[in-house]
Amino acid sequence: MRIAIGSFVQESQFFSPVKGAWQHFGPEQIARGRAMLDAAAGTRSEVAGAMDVAARRGIRLVPLLRAMSSSSSAPIVREVYESIRDELLARLREAIAEPLDGVLMVMHGAMSAEGYDDATGDVLQRVREIIGPRTPLVATLDLHANITRLMCEAADGLVGYLTFPHVDLYETGARGMQLLLDAAAGKIKPVTVMAKLPMIIPAENAQTTHGVIHDLLLTAQTHLTEPGILDISIFPMQPWMDAPEAGCAVVVVADEAQHRRAEEVAVQLADTWWRRREEHRVELAPTEQTIAEALASERKPWVLADSADAPSSGAPGDSTVTLKALLDAQPAKDCYTNIVDPQAVAAMIEAGVGSEVTVSLGACSGTTLYRPVSVSGRVRLISDGAFVHKGEGLRGATMHRGRTVVLQAGRVHIVVMERACIQWDPELYRSVGLEPMDAQIVIVKSPAGFRAAYSPFAAEIRVLDAPGVCTPNLTTLPYARIPRPMWPFDPMDDWRTAP
Ligand SMILES: [Zn+2]
Repeated sequence: MRIAIGSFVQESQFFSPVKGAWQHFGPEQIARGRAMLDAAAGTRSEVAGAMDVAARRGIRLVPLLRAMSSSSSAPIVREVYESIRDELLARLREAIAEPLDGVLMVMHGAMSAEGYDDATGDVLQRVREIIGPRTPLVATLDLHANITRLMCEAADGLVGYLTFPHVDLYETGARGMQLLLDAAAGKIKPVTVMAKLPMIIPAENAQTTHGVIHDLLLTAQTHLTEPGILDISIFPMQPWMDAPEAGCAVVVVADEAQHRRAEEVAVQLADTWWRRREEHRVELAPTEQTIAEALASERKPWVLADSADAPSSGAPGDSTVTLKALLDAQPAKDCYTNIVDPQAVAAMIEAGVGSEVTVSLGACSGTTLYRPVSVSGRVRLISDGAFVHKGEGLRGATMHRGRTVVLQAGRVHIVVMERACIQWDPELYRSVGLEPMDAQIVIVKSPAGFRAAYSPFAAEIRVLDAPGVCTPNLTTLPYARIPRPMWPFDPMDDWRTAP
């Protein structure tokens, strides 16, 4: 049996000032052919999970291309998107010169590009056109995917992460490959149905460790014991998707004969979710007051999430709001924070390790939500910025944030980076000599993904109320293209009456 595997992953943040561009898809972010499998081997990624299932069954994989954006951003520039997509499709056309028994696509599901609101659906549809109607196609997705009708039609199966913080990338890849191989072997004929909810929810309060989504997943487990119900995913769409088909979704993959039952199950789960939607509202901590409280505390570290500037959500990572609040507090205890500013990095490298400098930091993305801050301090360390994730979610994956400098201003230690990167892992600090367990305050720019690695040692975790393009105060964001009515913007009793 020959199975092709490809991947194109980006998460679009429609309110970000930074478009997806080649800077997000540099040489480290794209692996072609065999290099795709070599890079994934031994990691906890979806591709690794899929590879291991295939290996156990003695299946030969035909690797196409893996492109993964270094961070979320606004939708991808059209030329960049089409160039990557078309190379992936060209490789698929080459692969299909010999008979192909199935295709697994590792996607995010909330990827957009200029002219392509649903870029995931676009890729899957084009893959379908190449392989024809009978060759099975399964896609794996992030839990924050925006599921569309096109995606459900193009793929035989859609399989999403079941965890947030995301710690089951590997397992999701394995589930996807399992489903695909069963379909390729003719054991099942999967169909995918969804119940789409007119609802946008903040990422800060949509974890799978407790609460509504946790409970929905438990109920889903019981349905998976029913004959012909093959897979169930719950998709609380990432909230910064200003697109015509935006909304949360329940997806059920079933054997063709159980199509009707799959629809019933999806609607039942959606009903429960809708009834409990108010539980997703987030309580935010006022920034200055919380920093004062943390500094006065006997216990440490306080891990304070500036989720409004989370690069994993598509923010530029250059917010000065928490930096300024920390500097103003003139702490007598060590505090760690981080910020993106390539010009300041260059200036500090020029000055050299050990030198005293005054630099302007942050607000370099052109936002008007906050202003640059002038900081005087000592250049403590210069690094190439690469670090390896050690926490569960992305274990083994190397993060590239460009050249990185640690600037110390009093007791505030600032990690200044050329590029934004995902902030799930304490290695962001440890890799440059800063141990988060020893700090009184650690700022992380992440809505919830950081909890998996930080919760075991954090004395206290709070989500700060700070301005930024990824604010969980959704009603303050300039949505213009989502369908209406939509919760929490419009009053609405029944989700099924939505258009
Ligand atoms: Zn996600």
